[in-house]
Amino acid sequence: MAKGRIIIDQDRCKGCALCVYQCPVHILELDTSTTNQKGYTPLMVNDPEKCIACSFCAMICPDSVITVERFVKE
Ligand code: SF4
Ligand code: SF4
Repeated sequence: MAKGRIIIDQDRCKGCALCVYQCPVHILELDTSTTNQKGYTPLMVNDPEKCIACSFCAMICPDSVITVERFVKE
C-alpha cells in the first residue's frame, strides 16, 4: 500500500529524468506518449501504489516540479 503520493506539475517539467534515477522503488518514468507546454516529455508515475513517500524525487528536481504528500495512519 502506498505511503504517500506525488503530485507532478507536468507543464513545468523539462524531462531531464534526474528524478527517475533517484526513485528507490523505480516507479518514475518519462511519458513518451505526450509532450507538455514547453515541448518536453514530462514525468509520470507508473505504479503509484509502490510510493514510499521518501521525497528523493522532489529533492533532486531542479525545477520544484514534484510535491510529495505523505499519508498519515489513523
Ligand atoms: S517519493 Fe520516493 S518513492 Fe515516491 S516517487 Fe518520489 S522517489 Fe519514488
Ligand atoms: S527532475 Fe524535475 S524536471 Fe527533471 S524529469 Fe523529474 S520532474 Fe521533470
